[in-house]
Amino acid sequence: MSREHLMNTYGRYDVTFEKGVGCKLYDVNGKEYLDFISGVAVNCLGHSHPVIVNAIKEQSQKLIHISNYFWNTEHTKVAEKLIENSDHKNVFLCNSGTEAVEGALKLGRKYGKLKGGPDKHTIIYMEDSFHGRSMGALSVTGQGKYQESFKPLIGGVKSVPFNDIEALKKAFDANVCALILEPIQGEGGINTADIEFLREARRLCDEHDAILIFDEIQCGMGRLGTLFAYKQFDVIPDVICLAKALGGGFPIGAFVANEKARDVLVAGDHGSTYGGNPLASAVSAAVLTELVEGGVVAKVTEKGNYLKSKLTEIKDKYGVIKEVKGMGLLIGISLTVSPKDFASLCFKKGFLVATAGTDVVRLLPPLNVSSEDMDSALAIIEEVVKEFSIKG
Ligand SMILES: *Cc1c(COP(=O)(O)O)cnc(C)c1O
Repeated sequence: MSREHLMNTYGRYDVTFEKGVGCKLYDVNGKEYLDFISGVAVNCLGHSHPVIVNAIKEQSQKLIHISNYFWNTEHTKVAEKLIENSDHKNVFLCNSGTEAVEGALKLGRKYGKLKGGPDKHTIIYMEDSFHGRSMGALSVTGQGKYQESFKPLIGGVKSVPFNDIEALKKAFDANVCALILEPIQGEGGINTADIEFLREARRLCDEHDAILIFDEIQCGMGRLGTLFAYKQFDVIPDVICLAKALGGGFPIGAFVANEKARDVLVAGDHGSTYGGNPLASAVSAAVLTELVEGGVVAKVTEKGNYLKSKLTEIKDKYGVIKEVKGMGLLIGISLTVSPKDFASLCFKKGFLVATAGTDVVRLLPPLNVSSEDMDSALAIIEEVVKEFSIKG
């Protein structure tokens, strides 16, 4: 083992995985884990799903990569699926979440230049947000711990407390070109946007002719019970950033633009060598078909409500849990104890959960999680809560 050869940028658990099936992962010693992290909301169909395996197999034998000098048979399928299920008009394909955000920010900046000249370049973002690790996305990520070591970041950005309508109004002026937010903040602690806040964001972007960007990289692609997260809030953004579950485990990202934003970026403005390559696109198109036509997304709300009601029972029985929050299968459990300790104890019991914000444990099961796996997860959570409640 040569773990020291990898740059040490993650706090990893001491386990090496070799295989996965559905909601289960197996380490090199054959030990089984129940996976409620799903590669951080990526493996929406679980591990080794035949739809994904077959798409990779079939497309890789035909064509893996060409370049964006040409069309291919697959990238149009992804775009078609996304447009079919949204109020939007066209799509840019890239490879990751942070790239989707970069592209959306560039679109916002160019829109501002076109509409109001060079001064219309301010981008507003939210405190406690997470938009990615590249310099642009990092500049609108409202968490000091991610930003501090890398300053100076890009200029012309301004942060506002999440869900603070008055602060948002105050931050807005004619020089704002874009506003970016997550309908539910994932990394920041499963904080859900108030509908009134989103409506005001929409109204202000209309009033000042700015681009409203929703980052649905974590909460989109079915996790909230609709393919697009914004449908749960009845506020339509101009641009939507996607990644994570979009490829079900195969790297792909995208941003989607409505009528207002569709023709802002033109030939030469933006690009990606890998973006929309045939292999990634074929997998994504297959995943989207399974999520929507396969009926996976349609069952998410019911599954999420089941988990939340059972978790609320555990909360009422033992304490330790302060609040059960989130929507669909993006569930946050805020705790009176350290979420890191909580997740570590789950890990020891063969159950994988992620943390978020300062006091939250996040449940991100695959969207096709079975009742059996949900019940196993709930049984372990109850055990762990019980142990913490005894420790006091
Ligand atoms: C994960 C995430 C990103 C970054 O995605 P990467 O693929 O890691 O670059 C951006 N925004 C949100 C909301 C995310 O959850």
